[in-house]
Amino acid sequence: MPDHAAIYDELDVPTVVNAAGTKTRIGGSLIRPEAADAMRAAADSFARISDLQSRASDLIADATGAEAGYVASGAAATMTLAAAAAIAGDDLGAMARLPDTEGLADEIVMPRTHRTGYDHALRAAGATVVDVGTNDRHLGTGSRNVEPWEIADAVGEETAAVGYVQKEYTEPPLATVADVAHDHDVPVIVDAAAELPPVSNLERFIEAGADMVVFSGGKAVRGPQSTGILAGREEYVRSAAAQHLDMHAHEDAYVPPEDLVDVDDLGGVPRQGIGRGLKVGKEELVGIIRALELFLEEDQAAKQEEWTARAMRVAEGLDSASGVITEITGDDAVSVAPEVIVAVDPDEAGITATELARELRQERPRVFVGADGIDAGRVAVNPMCLTDEEADYAVERMLSYLDE
Ligand SMILES: *Cc1c(COP(=O)(O)O)cnc(C)c1O
Repeated sequence: MPDHAAIYDELDVPTVVNAAGTKTRIGGSLIRPEAADAMRAAADSFARISDLQSRASDLIADATGAEAGYVASGAAATMTLAAAAAIAGDDLGAMARLPDTEGLADEIVMPRTHRTGYDHALRAAGATVVDVGTNDRHLGTGSRNVEPWEIADAVGEETAAVGYVQKEYTEPPLATVADVAHDHDVPVIVDAAAELPPVSNLERFIEAGADMVVFSGGKAVRGPQSTGILAGREEYVRSAAAQHLDMHAHEDAYVPPEDLVDVDDLGGVPRQGIGRGLKVGKEELVGIIRALELFLEEDQAAKQEEWTARAMRVAEGLDSASGVITEITGDDAVSVAPEVIVAVDPDEAGITATELARELRQERPRVFVGADGIDAGRVAVNPMCLTDEEADYAVERMLSYLDE
């Protein structure tokens, strides 16, 4: 293994060989060296955070086609800001009261099958998630999980927004849901935290009608782990900024960037809001700006080729083991990256998929393989966060548990 991890050795903390993809719990992705350098340089002088947010907003708007953008400490953090913006708008009193929403429209309507643990981030702003529809798609009757009329029926006086989680399996299409929401004058918030690449997805959800969309800065964009990107309509970004930035100041001496916070529109200077705990520093802001610029320029086809070649290398490496069958996914248009799915037959391999995943992550360095399919007897090797050398190492470690 290459010795690039001296800092973790010094701290006596085991490193991870990441064959699981961009998972926050094992460090997300590796920040681009240029973004890390930019953060280091940003640490040497002061800049006003709102000026950096304004600069980031321009870049996010260019990249996504949205009117404006904003940065907070993760996609989950930007979900909280999005919910807070949908609930409070420009109302200073409402901003000050959140997460107390008494008297405010605070419901976020969501198809039931879109609910994830991350919707806690919406509720953190004071929102109540109202889920609609069923899980009927799996009944085999041909029926769908949620019909557009069910969403329309749930939207009413108490609705602040419609929530949508973008995954390859989610239905109905975003454009359909956005039409329903807009017919009722409520915005749509889209969680697309991990839906990059392709780079074209930056624009896709705004184009389909999202009023706010969030992306992780610390996944495929390879910015700082503690960043998330909010892109959306100016009125919501303005509200998000007003509930996030350190504001309280003498009104006459308060001159924030006008494109971000218009004091006249707000009718006063807000105090620290619900988003204050979601702050990012000048270093994160500079880091995500540089990372997003580089992500936009990246040769996507070359990346996909690199990942596919590495996936094939892993699949070939596992060929000699008995009791495993490998398959490479990713020829479909929705996949973020190809993956090697490794089906483990415990009788022949001498170990179950679950045991294999658990053993590997207790090694030093820890080896993390994708574990989404362990209940079904499968582990996955994701090439995105591996070098070829690390991929070979992961294969070698997997083989050590598998019967020949
Ligand atoms: C990763 C992820 C998040 C959270 O992103 P962070 O940037 O880590 O806050 C939210 N929603 C989904 C669907 C995700 O995959």
